[in-house]
Amino acid sequence: MQLRYSYRVYPTPGQRIALARAFGCARVVYNDALAARMEAFAKSERISDTELSKRLTAAKATPQRAWLADVSSVVLQQALADLNTAYRNFFASVSGRRKGARVGVPRFRSRRAHRQAIRFTKNSRFAVTSGGKLRLPKIGEVRVAWSRDLPSDPSSVTVIKDATDRYFASFVVQVDEQPLPELETEVGIDLGLTTFAVLSNGKTIDSPRFLRRAERRLRKAQQVLSRKEKGSKNRAKARVEVARAHAKVADTRRDWAHKHSTRIVRENQAIFVEDLCVQGLARTRLAKSVHDAGWSTFVTMLEEKAARCGRTFARVDRWFPSTRLCSRCGVVGERKALHVREWTCVCGAVHDRDVNAAMNILAAGRAER
Ligand SMILES: [Zn+2]
Repeated sequence: MQLRYSYRVYPTPGQRIALARAFGCARVVYNDALAARMEAFAKSERISDTELSKRLTAAKATPQRAWLADVSSVVLQQALADLNTAYRNFFASVSGRRKGARVGVPRFRSRRAHRQAIRFTKNSRFAVTSGGKLRLPKIGEVRVAWSRDLPSDPSSVTVIKDATDRYFASFVVQVDEQPLPELETEVGIDLGLTTFAVLSNGKTIDSPRFLRRAERRLRKAQQVLSRKEKGSKNRAKARVEVARAHAKVADTRRDWAHKHSTRIVRENQAIFVEDLCVQGLARTRLAKSVHDAGWSTFVTMLEEKAARCGRTFARVDRWFPSTRLCSRCGVVGERKALHVREWTCVCGAVHDRDVNAAMNILAAGRAER
């Protein structure tokens, strides 16, 4: 199976300039190709990938686009590949072949986008040097903070610059499965109302206090930003503050999610989670939406780790009233207001609202298997 391994990288000032040029060239190639496709579409014509690739080669020979030659050609080819993927996902989403949230039509990339990225494949001859640096064609040897070892030879690397001007290298590596000894235990997980997640075995996972504090700081920074005058120097400063607080929350949340997802995969043979992509948000779903950002990261981690360890993982996307349905007798009770934490079924079962929902998810997951 393929996984991503990401590391912080520290380009020199000269390498930053070279990277900025590469980001810019990839963006221009992407936008040129998108314009060509839109133009063809307006004339009810089709334009092939080979044709777009040919046009790129031709553009390099013109004085207006000659500077594209200063950047690795693989980076430019990959920008075209990105556009193809964007279109494929869009068409699959429109036709219903792709599940999950709707994918919009590809849009032009902006110079002012907060996240910039370029990709190098094997063909580009990128390499990790014997000195532990990342050698990138036409960029140089970049220093990497190796927080863990690469498990195998990477097939590609994406270099990313985020909104706070940090740089990352994200490698795609092939990883062997490492099945864990089989267990009897299975678990359903519901996104909690007051806690982060609730497990069908009654355990709850709550965001730690340091994460809640970081989130509070982020909200405050956002408020400060919204009060600053547009175009002012102070607004620019406040925006950097927000980006920084945002990055801090994301980092902290990722570490924390790693810890919990690893534990759940170790302790359970099958894992079923609530799928939040289902259309038509219920009232409780809205109340839960505060956790949504963290939830998708968490669920992706569960899915990857389960695949790697030979565990069963599934999203339960069949709609059912998970809160009102009694997990013991199957009777659907009346609607529960948001403040109702506990309820008693006609069969006598006393339910914690969230634990009961998690048990229903577990049952639905088992039934679908
Ligand atoms: Zn009941």
